[in-house]
Amino acid sequence: MSCIKSSVCKLCRRENTKLFLKGDRCFTDKCSFERRPYPPGQHGQSRLKFSEFALQLREKQKAKRYYGLSEKQFRRYFEKADQSKAITGTELLKYLELRLDNVIYTLGYASSRREARQLISHNHFLVNSKRVNIASFVVKKGDVIEVAQKSREMNKILIGIQSVARRTMPSWLDANHAAFKGTIKDFPSRDEVSIPVEESMIVEYYSR
Ligand code: SF4
Repeated sequence: MSCIKSSVCKLCRRENTKLFLKGDRCFTDKCSFERRPYPPGQHGQSRLKFSEFALQLREKQKAKRYYGLSEKQFRRYFEKADQSKAITGTELLKYLELRLDNVIYTLGYASSRREARQLISHNHFLVNSKRVNIASFVVKKGDVIEVAQKSREMNKILIGIQSVARRTMPSWLDANHAAFKGTIKDFPSRDEVSIPVEESMIVEYYSR
């Protein structure tokens, strides 16, 4: 579970980009970043010069906050990606995308990743017909995600399905909202990961 405690909108302003942490509100004119697109605090509107290290740190923080992870969790994904033979940054994003909480949110069965984590922990989903209540569960190609039968009338899930139309469904996922299901058709490619981050800077940050 994430350890983010501050106002989530401040995180978007701090990272100078929309991280979509508040569900539907992120797509309305109530979005704090739309109204104040500069970092919070006294020096928020000053033109500051950032060092290379500061820029790398910001990219890492941006990705960590986007997926709602703690530093420890995020570093663990980096270490796993670093051990693979594929490109580390791309592999890191692949692992993050394949977390169950991200998949539930992307399929539209929750309005945010945070809400997806809450719904998963309350046993509202099945993976390949087995209940899974661990948000960090990693799905794989061919897996079928399903909303539990008794949870199909839940407001949060129905609102999620309605609001997913505002987002683009990546081609590696197949959502069948009529059947409350989703299938992992493939592994996510870099082009289809929508997070506005330069993953090579994250690799540089951890490789110092
Ligand atoms: Fe970020 Fe959403 Fe808040 Fe906008 S409404 S600042 S996108 S969390």
